[in-house]
Amino acid sequence: MIVLGTTIAIDEIDPYRCIGCGVCVQSCQNDVIRMKGGKAYRAHLEECSGCTFCIEDCPREAISLGLVSESKKQKGYQTK
Ligand code: SF4
Ligand code: SF4
Repeated sequence: MIVLGTTIAIDEIDPYRCIGCGVCVQSCQNDVIRMKGGKAYRAHLEECSGCTFCIEDCPREAISLGLVSESKKQKGYQTK
């Protein structure tokens, strides 16, 4: 179910599961994910298409997809 004012995008990168391998950065064609301090974070969430490539490639199942509010998505940078 799609809720008005929301869109599908990566909802979280769990810093406790992430081992900093960088695979998700390579997987994302939209340059959404960057590395900082050995962890992946959502640097450009506004560019996420919800394609799930990063989720499929992450060896630690650290990335989850979900309904994200449009305002949060357009804000872009998300630290977690
Ligand atoms: S692929 Fe998974 S474990 Fe590797 S950096 Fe990305 S989120 Fe972390
Ligand atoms: S779901 Fe697709 S567009 Fe979004 S961060 Fe992952 S690989 Fe990039």
